[in-house]
Amino acid sequence: MPVFLECQRCTACCRWPGQVKVSDDEMARIACFLNLTEEEFVHQFMRLRSDRKGLVLADKPNGECVFLDGKNCRVQPVKPQQCRDFPNLWNLPGVEKVCQAIPREISATEFRERIETATGMLPNEPITPS
Ligand code: SF4
Repeated sequence: MPVFLECQRCTACCRWPGQVKVSDDEMARIACFLNLTEEEFVHQFMRLRSDRKGLVLADKPNGECVFLDGKNCRVQPVKPQQCRDFPNLWNLPGVEKVCQAIPREISATEFRERIETATGMLPNEPITPS
């Protein structure tokens, strides 16, 4: 049976060092959600990528995501796809040591539904019917 990783909102992934990519469409959506122009959004919430070839979400001085607010994401309804996809569509060796998501064995039908709800996408891998 497929295994769905159920997020426990421990926020570890929002505090890992790394870079959150934001597409132009996502930038427009998040700016709109925050009642900002895209220019204001970029100025306040984006930074240069480490290879200086684009922009990513800014970090707070302590390294956590600029949108992490306690245990909540300030832009949860419009958060970037990279965040929506984690942890179920990521293949990150050793991730279970920090991510507290609970693995649940569920039917293939429920798995498809839950992946679609969490990520807005259907699973890429064919799911073996349960
Ligand atoms: S690290 Fe895992 S359990 Fe914690 S918030 Fe991120 S996805 Fe959820």
